[in-house]
Amino acid sequence: MRYDLIVMKFGGTSVENQERLLSVAKIIKKEVSLGKKVIAVVSAQGDTTDNLLALSKKITNTPNLRELDVLLSTGEQISIALLAMTLESIGVKAISLTGWQAGIKTCGNYSNARILDIFTDRIENELKNHDAIIIAGFQGINENDDITTMGRGGSDTTAVAIAAAINAKECLIYTDVDGVYTADPRIVKNAKKIKEVSYDYMIKMADMGAQVLNKRSVRLAKKYGVEISVLSSILKNQGTKVREVDLNAKPVTSLTVEKDLFLLKFKSKDFDFVSEKIKKNKINVSDIFFKGPFCSILLNQTHLRQIQELFVDFKDYETELNLSKISLICTNQDIIFDIFSKVKKASENIPIKYANVCEYISIILESKFNSYLANKMHDLVCC
Ligand code: ASP
Ligand code: MG
Repeated sequence: MRYDLIVMKFGGTSVENQERLLSVAKIIKKEVSLGKKVIAVVSAQGDTTDNLLALSKKITNTPNLRELDVLLSTGEQISIALLAMTLESIGVKAISLTGWQAGIKTCGNYSNARILDIFTDRIENELKNHDAIIIAGFQGINENDDITTMGRGGSDTTAVAIAAAINAKECLIYTDVDGVYTADPRIVKNAKKIKEVSYDYMIKMADMGAQVLNKRSVRLAKKYGVEISVLSSILKNQGTKVREVDLNAKPVTSLTVEKDLFLLKFKSKDFDFVSEKIKKNKINVSDIFFKGPFCSILLNQTHLRQIQELFVDFKDYETELNLSKISLICTNQDIIFDIFSKVKKASENIPIKYANVCEYISIILESKFNSYLANKMHDLVCC
C-alpha cells in the first residue's frame, strides 16, 4: 500500500531536552495517526556541536578534519537515538539511522562535504516496518567510507536532499522561530513574518547572513522544486513557505544582520598574494573594498586565528574587529535609491565604515551600533 510520506527537520533547540523531544515526538505521532509516514531529520541537541568543537580546540586549533568529522557527527547520533526512544515510548514505531545508514553519499571534503547522492533502499525498507524514520542531519559518508560533515547548519540540507531523493513535494523545517521574518526578530522588535517567499529571495537573504535556513538547502530546494515550510515546534502558528512565487506582484523588503566580522586591511599591491591564500584555504569572503592604495577584505571572525596563522610571515596588514554588516534586500530595484536616501537619514548619527548600493544595500559598522541602526532602518524601510 502506498502511504503519504512527509519529511520534517527539527533543529537543535527543538530537541535540546526531554521535554522538547516529547513535543517533537507528539508532532510526529499526530501525522502518523493520520495515516502518514514520517522521515524526521534532526540536528544535535542545543549547543552540542559548539561544545564538541570546544573539546577539539583544547587539543589543537587546527584539528585533523577527518577526525573532527568523526567527533562532530556524534552530536546528531545522540539526537536520533533519543528521539527514536521517545517515539517508541509513546507508541510510535520508529527507527534511527545515521547519515551513512541512510545512504547519504558525499564528496570527500571533510567538514564541508556536499551531498552527491542518496541511496534510498535502506530508508524504503525500513518504511515497511516503521512509521517514523529518524535520520541524523549534517553527516554522510564519502568515497573512502569515512564519516563527513556538511558545514554548520547542514541538517537543513540533509532534509531537503532526502525530500528530493524520495520525491516528497514538501519539507517541513521546524526551528526556533516560527517563520522567515523581514529581519531577525531577536534583533529587530518590529520584524514581521513573511507568509511566502521565492527561492531566489531566500537564497539572497541566506547569503547576506539570515540564519533561518542554511543557504545550500535553499539552493537545493530550488533545483529540485521542493517546497519548504519554516515552522516552530512550540508555537502552532502558520509559518513561511519558500517556493516559486512571483515577488514582483507582492514586493518584499527585508533586512539581515551579519555579526562578528572583521576587516583585513592591506596595501592594494598585495591583493593577489592575500586573495590567493584566502581562496586556497576556502575562507568565505563577505565583501572586498578598495580605497586608493588600500584594500580591505571583510571576513567572519571565526577565521581570525586562521588568518593570523596564514599571514604570520607577512606583517604588512592590520585588522579591525567587532564589525557587523546590515543589508537591505529589496525585490523592487526601481526604489533602491529612495531606500538608500532613507537609510542615509537613519544612519546620520552613526559612524559608518562602508556603504554599498548595488542589487542590495549594505552598511558596515561597529557591532555596538547594529541593533540601534537595524531597528531604525527596518522601521523606515521594511514596514
Ligand atoms: N549540528 C550542526 C550545527 O550545529 C548541524 C545543524 O545544526 O544543522 O551546525
Ligand atoms: Mg546545531
